[in-house]
Amino acid sequence: MFDCVVIGGGVVGSAIAYGLTLHLDSVLMIDGRDSDPRAAQANFGLVWYQSKGVGMPAYQRLSRLAVEEWLSFSREIEEAGGIPIEFAGQGGLTFCLGDQELEARQTILSRLSGQMERTEIGMLSRRELERLYPGIRLGKDVTGGAFSALDGHVNPLCLLMALQQGFVKAGGTVQRGRRVDGIEVCGEQFRLHLKTGVVHAARVVIAAGEASRVLAEPLGMTLPFTLQRGQILVTERVGPVLPYPSDRIRQTAGGTIMVGGTKEDVGRDTGTTAAGAASLAARAIRIFPDLARVSAVRQWSGRRVITPDIAPIYERSSMFPGAYACICHSGVTLAAYHARGLAKRIAGYGSWDDVQQFSVRRFDVQAA
Ligand SMILES: Cc1cc2nc3c(=O)[nH]c(=O)nc-3n(C[C@H](O)[C@H](O)[C@H](O)COP(=O)(O)OP(=O)(O)OC[C@H]3O[C@@H](n4cnc5c(N)ncnc54)[C@H](O)[C@@H]3O)c2cc1C
Repeated sequence: MFDCVVIGGGVVGSAIAYGLTLHLDSVLMIDGRDSDPRAAQANFGLVWYQSKGVGMPAYQRLSRLAVEEWLSFSREIEEAGGIPIEFAGQGGLTFCLGDQELEARQTILSRLSGQMERTEIGMLSRRELERLYPGIRLGKDVTGGAFSALDGHVNPLCLLMALQQGFVKAGGTVQRGRRVDGIEVCGEQFRLHLKTGVVHAARVVIAAGEASRVLAEPLGMTLPFTLQRGQILVTERVGPVLPYPSDRIRQTAGGTIMVGGTKEDVGRDTGTTAAGAASLAARAIRIFPDLARVSAVRQWSGRRVITPDIAPIYERSSMFPGAYACICHSGVTLAAYHARGLAKRIAGYGSWDDVQQFSVRRFDVQAA
């Protein structure tokens, strides 16, 4: 019997599983098939705090805690996993085009600063942006932007690999290409049914992304969320030109420029569209006109799991102690928290009180 089984080997499951190995003797991570939808392999790679938690101070604080831990976490995970993850935490920007976007961003910042004493996020004028991007031409519509010194970016595929390798090196066991078809409760144990047999565990963490709902329901955990498609464009490699990532344009360590991501309500469709590519490219060129001379070489899409208030759901079953479910749309940003604070609490150390704020029960309160 395992101390804990984590279902799902995306960035959420892998971070939690890695963190659990620091507290428990035997942890198994079961990850589905390569054909499964995997947001962890389709995302933009931002470690981002500046827009999180409007109207929900607990989520603002959580995001901040996570980004503040990212530098030390990136070093830990590079060492544990044995590969560089290309984290750069020098700050990040949101560009505003036109006066309306500038006003809207100012409103968001005022709301966020009303919730926290020091947010470390500030508005920048166009002139200040030009100083941050010396030698780079900004489009005429750029009116200003918001900057947070706490934001950054990472190579999300290397992060995923480092977490998984770190997990195995720390003594964790992985079963890949296997699906958990159902979870049965037998006294104080969980019995997980797979095509290949049965696995027993004292604890179970459901972190299977959009497949989590169906696994969690029989354990008394209802997970409300919708799916949102995000398309991303990637350009050919160019020399280092963008010193900071922005919410929609970032240059990778390898030199490509990523432009993302659309936000589309199209159900389970994970196709890419010419319209999606055109809207991404058009906005990027309005910000940096010289990008028009750089060729886009790839386009893909993935699906975000969007909860009713955008914040993560961390659920602990009240019917079946030892069962947990974790879903979120910012699995990269929150990875440091998932591997550290959350894993520690799932392992039974530390109070669950602060995590409780992210239970689905908050939606009952909001509805009331
Ligand atoms: C376009 C886009 C851009 C994004 N950009 C960012 C960003 O910049 N920063 C950020 O923080 N976040 C971003 N995100 C969100 C981020 O990618 C997700 O929060 C994160 O990937 C969710 O990870 P996950 O592990 O929960 O899910 P997934 O990556 O979907 O993984 C779920 C895993 O569970 C496995 N699984 C499913 N069912 C079963 C089963 N029955 N048994 C066993 N295994 C199973 C699957 O095989 C899969 O590997 C973005 C997402 C998208 C789509």
